[in-house]
Amino acid sequence: MRKISIFGATGSIGQNTIDLIRRDLAGYDVVALTGGANIARLAADAIALNADIAVTAYDDRLDDLRAALAGSTVKAAAGQMALVEAAARPADWVMSAIVGIAGLAPGLEALKQGATLALANKESLVCAGALLLDTAKRHGARILPVDSEHSAVFQALVGEDMEAVERIIITASGGAFRDWPLEQLRQATLAQASSHPNWDMGQRITIDSASMFNKAMEVIETHEYFGVKPDQIEVLVHPESLVHAMVGFRDGALMAHLGAPDMRHAIGYALHWPERRKLPVARLDLAKIGQLNFVTPDPARFPALALAYQVMARGGMMGTVFNGAKERVLDHFIASRIGFLDMATIVEQVMAYFEGQSSLIDDAMTLDNVSQIDQLARQRVDLALVERTG
Ligand code: NAD
Ligand code: MG
Repeated sequence: MRKISIFGATGSIGQNTIDLIRRDLAGYDVVALTGGANIARLAADAIALNADIAVTAYDDRLDDLRAALAGSTVKAAAGQMALVEAAARPADWVMSAIVGIAGLAPGLEALKQGATLALANKESLVCAGALLLDTAKRHGARILPVDSEHSAVFQALVGEDMEAVERIIITASGGAFRDWPLEQLRQATLAQASSHPNWDMGQRITIDSASMFNKAMEVIETHEYFGVKPDQIEVLVHPESLVHAMVGFRDGALMAHLGAPDMRHAIGYALHWPERRKLPVARLDLAKIGQLNFVTPDPARFPALALAYQVMARGGMMGTVFNGAKERVLDHFIASRIGFLDMATIVEQVMAYFEGQSSLIDDAMTLDNVSQIDQLARQRVDLALVERTG
């Protein structure tokens, strides 16, 4: 039986992971499940999967979690420290599906135990890529990509030599506002940004898809994970979301990965890797689909994309700045304090501020330094908001 833990079990990726596990419960020994405010969901799944422990991220929800688990053998715990402690429990495979930088510390801890980390939490790679990869290397642990594009690239690279890779193309659906003119984008509301044409995901990544901050994060993720240079990474808007990524080789071949927009494919691939097992995802009928479209993303309407290339060019902990600032502007957009296009403008301003702060962003990439820069970047965002409103 494989020992597994799921961090962010109550979210979209977490629930898709549980869907796969439930189909073969006898094969898994579930160690830890974690969640946030949805105590009922967390407790019900922890009981159904017979987990050793359930952890809520919120200290003040411990009593609720205890009550919800009453009569079962599942232990309850709460708070950020408890999340890290849960990650220290021996497991063979750990799903990292917390949203945001909160996923970093538990992910690092799981790697220190030598676990295979199935990484959906792209923020970890963007804000602390080198730290995550070094930790994995030092502890003989493995990171498997769960983002659909990166899983696709990973699959296209099986048996290939990285030397032969010329470029990596990741696709973007274009999100909710693919064809919106710039003027209309300025007025885009939270409700409009919160619906995705093809994928069913958590609210934050859905809005990030509309702004293409998600794709910007994924460009950095590609650079960190596969070690390719920034000018080898391209983004193509592909409205059908059926080709997830393509790898171009030096002989001119382009290997594309196609599949239904269902995260259970990428999750299942990481769960069973290196085997390829049967998965409950829809099979594509290409004759019915008829055509696939590709266009170059418009840099004026999706300014977030260019920021990713600035992050990679600057290096150091500029990714930490970018991620922290992006998470904070998103909080402000969700709270209706700023407009849709203000998000990229403010992140760019914050990055420009840190550009000159070499002593900060060129310091050693440790969890403490990353956390500190993350906090500073968030503060700069708040300051920018104060300055805007006078
Ligand atoms: P979600 O909002 O549906 O779920 C997030 C999970 O994290 C929940 O379990 C929530 O309780 C937990 N959480 C939130 N804040 C927390 C905190 N401060 N501390 C601890 N736990 C916290 O998000 P999602 O769509 O499942 O995305 C999860 C991660 O996977 C993100 O990094 C996202 O970018 C990535 N991802 C998601 C998809 C997708 O299809 N949903 C695809 C690719 C990558
Ligand atoms: Mg993706």
